[in-house]
Amino acid sequence: DKNPEYNVPMAVKNAVFSKVPTEPLQGKLHLVCASEDCLTNVLDLDPAVAETEEFIDFVAGKYLPKGGLSVSHRYGGYQFGFWADQLGDGRAHILGEYVNSKGESWQPQLKGSGETPYSRFGDGRAVLRSSIREMVASEACYFLGIPTTRAAALVVSEDHKVWRDKSYSGHARQERAAVVMRLAPCWYRLGSLEILDKRKEPGTMRTLVDHVIKHYYPHIENEQNKYVAWYSEVALKNLDMVATWQGYGFTHGVLNTDNVSVLGLTIDYGPYGFIDHYNRHYVPNTSDDMGRYAYYKQPEIILWNLEKFAAAMEPILSEDEKQKITEFRSTLEEYARKKVLETYLLKLGLQENHDGDDGLVQDLLQLMQQTMADFTCTFRQLGEVEPKELLNQTVVQEKWSLSKVSAAKQWSAWVTKYQERLHKENVTEEDRRVRMSNVNPVYIPRNWILQEAIADAENNDFEKVRFLMKLFKNPFVVNEEAEKRGYSAQPPSWSYGLKLSCSS
Ligand code: AMP
Ligand code: MG
Ligand code: MG
Repeated sequence: DKNPEYNVPMAVKNAVFSKVPTEPLQGKLHLVCASEDCLTNVLDLDPAVAETEEFIDFVAGKYLPKGGLSVSHRYGGYQFGFWADQLGDGRAHILGEYVNSKGESWQPQLKGSGETPYSRFGDGRAVLRSSIREMVASEACYFLGIPTTRAAALVVSEDHKVWRDKSYSGHARQERAAVVMRLAPCWYRLGSLEILDKRKEPGTMRTLVDHVIKHYYPHIENEQNKYVAWYSEVALKNLDMVATWQGYGFTHGVLNTDNVSVLGLTIDYGPYGFIDHYNRHYVPNTSDDMGRYAYYKQPEIILWNLEKFAAAMEPILSEDEKQKITEFRSTLEEYARKKVLETYLLKLGLQENHDGDDGLVQDLLQLMQQTMADFTCTFRQLGEVEPKELLNQTVVQEKWSLSKVSAAKQWSAWVTKYQERLHKENVTEEDRRVRMSNVNPVYIPRNWILQEAIADAENNDFEKVRFLMKLFKNPFVVNEEAEKRGYSAQPPSWSYGLKLSCSS
């Protein structure tokens, strides 16, 4: 509970959750959009319910589902490399657990649903723009094949306003509050254990870890060294996840340990960005001055987070288990390197491993960096042109991103290398095309596309957001309407260098 004397958030002790009611969104409400797939396949609902007042009120936090319970989760975390102490769900409420018709259990969570004991300086709310960004990216990432939490629906209020950026007087403004209903099997993060370590609550940590293993990692429950096995699985899942990010140019933006899930799912979409023109140093978050969470550093940062995670688990580990985890950790860097390389090779239509593969990939990325070629479109277009035509200027000029990268001096050397490598693997042109079109999307949630949809949504025109929700169900297939809107074309010049602030 909130501290009755001071009405400030409390340092919660010996708990993993605080029971706390939602503070419903006030005023006239609108459904901005919903995920048909989540409603149908996760929640067993007819997607038509999304438009009903009852459903909108539910997302707005006005009532709990039958048998539901509203809790906020306590966790801590390292933010930008430093221990930040207790954080927790400062504006989110988990509404219990739903076991669907397939037997899967899901925890619906409202984000932006009011103050909790973890709100600290915050108001417990989320604004429309960041909620749209979370909603669209969660679902787009899911359909791209990135392990992720889901988002089922987004509701905004006409009248319920909140202040943002008050501390920068020039930027202070009121924005409309919104609530996203997110879904995940559970919402535990690396920081869920870290707080229990720092506060010396090993009993609670053991209870939590046993619970997580029992429910989410049942296959290791009876292993002799189940904590070692669990650590290993959490580590590998997160490294698999980050490899998929690298493959799509997804940059999370705030890879603090409280934003890394114990299920290896992408969580907390804030100032993220998908790379447009390739730049390995891409940093979408305006407050990341040091570039700690730059695109190319993500695997390394996940490893750093996993090191902290191993340290957090120590209170429940025996000396032998600590030793085993240390040994296991020494293999992770190589695992991550291989996973990321494999991801890039698949983008080039290659499934085998050969000497020189790393050079082949790095050389291409470097050419893209030099020429400011588009990350997504270069790979897509490489899969649309026969390798022997890649030096044919007439053919290459028809593809806007290839025309850029092919202007590099070393382009023909790279093409020769690529042709030789394809030859080694004996991949037919048809296979190469199929492979590449299955892993290289046409559409990704580019910042400029989201920005346009947000601008309309601020005026209660939700057509663009809803179109994106449909489009990103099939990001690998050319869509006529999306082409008309220029969604796979060169991004408009106004969007160059667009960055996002943490204010949300
Ligand atoms: P994030 O950077 O979004 O991962 O958030 C870090 C921490 O700040 C988490 O504990 C959030 O719950 C909390 N937080 C962010 N925004 C708000 C807000 N408007 N009100 C309360 N807590 C917030
Ligand atoms: Mg209040
Ligand atoms: Mg967070």
